[in-house]
Amino acid sequence: MPTEIVACQCPHCQQEGDHPDQALHVWMNLLMSRLDEAQRRWYAALEAQRLGHGGDRLVAQITGLGEKTIRRGRAELHASLADCPDERVRRSGAGRTPTEKKRPSDSPGVAGTGDTRNGGRSDERAEVGPQ
Ligand SMILES: [Zn+2]
Repeated sequence: MPTEIVACQCPHCQQEGDHPDQALHVWMNLLMSRLDEAQRRWYAALEAQRLGHGGDRLVAQITGLGEKTIRRGRAELHASLADCPDERVRRSGAGRTPTEKKRPSDSPGVAGTGDTRNGGRSDERAEVGPQ
């Protein structure tokens, strides 16, 4: 079955000239073309959620999915996909790349990285130590 990449119908992609979202929307639809029906729904729901107000409508325009479908996907996500059994259809060529950390660390000031031994307990230890 040929995978067709949906052309985005959002206002930004319809306008003349470049818009930073255009490439993103192309990629979204590229990704969509490789997902199965349920996965598309969930991904669309996630994007819609991220966009916040009006997200359902915009993602519907981008992906060609119905808003109803996106809402359904969101409901399923909110229900922890409880009613959606994990069916791995494609097992051949399971080249799943591990998710790489591309962002700089989320928490810049990580407290206590291996510095726990300086907790002021060294005196106690000195007493017990055999000398
Ligand atoms: Zn677009």
